[in-house]
Amino acid sequence: MHELQDPPAAPRPSRHRRRPRRRARWAGGAAAALALAAAAAAVVAAVGHGGTPADRSGQATTAPARPPSSTPPSSPAGPSGGAAAAAPQAGPVVNGRRQPAPVDVPRSASGDYAVVPGTTEPPEGTGGPVVRYLVEVERGLPFTGRAFAAQVHRILNDPRGWGHDGAMRFRRVSRGPVRFRVSLSSPALTDRVCAPLITGGQLSCREGERSVINALRWAAGDDSYGRDVLSYREYLIGHEVGHALGHGHRTCPGPGRPAPVMVQQTKSLYGCEPNPWPHPQG
Ligand SMILES: [Zn+2]
Repeated sequence: MHELQDPPAAPRPSRHRRRPRRRARWAGGAAAALALAAAAAAVVAAVGHGGTPADRSGQATTAPARPPSSTPPSSPAGPSGGAAAAAPQAGPVVNGRRQPAPVDVPRSASGDYAVVPGTTEPPEGTGGPVVRYLVEVERGLPFTGRAFAAQVHRILNDPRGWGHDGAMRFRRVSRGPVRFRVSLSSPALTDRVCAPLITGGQLSCREGERSVINALRWAAGDDSYGRDVLSYREYLIGHEVGHALGHGHRTCPGPGRPAPVMVQQTKSLYGCEPNPWPHPQG
């Protein structure tokens, strides 16, 4: 099953509208890379962000890395454990919300996931068919599974999200069957799971039933959202889970318009305004 959802190659804007882009080189050959990826026996959706510099596109034919297995929820250690568990919410206030405290994300962690235990029901007021999903966090990352899962669950069930107007609602579970997994991953594990897409330790992707969330981006946000890390997190979950729900990439409908959530906003806003929600009007 191939689900390559990048748009055809298009000239990349040389500059972000508001600030220079640090990672311009990441996106340059994305379409070419994906074309090659299509030839590989991989089930990969470039998510927002997977791309390959043209001069390295041969790497896209590399056989996909075997995704790591998840440990059962009964595993003793929590997804992160350790002292970093209770990261204080001590960041700046941006767009009216207190941002998370800065977290140093290691380049690599244990390389295996722990499923967040327990079940969280859809909140009151949601409706529609129930979609089961699970959350897993790579062991050794400085995030607690419980806190990460709570944020994911809130984002998924937000009235502005994919469940808008009773389209669906999301129940977090700890074992299958599930429609998708939200997998918080170190940059190194992201690269491994997303291969043959080249995520370069910076980007995220969707691979099979996994929405692979690069912990570096989760922690630091992205230039496209400035210092508003929380809004970027909402975008990241909405976009990657959007792929898992079958949505492909969209383009910016016009300058100054809200970017559809399926625009690859990490690469560029293409003249649109940042928008993390599938249904921003709620
Ligand atoms: Zn995408």
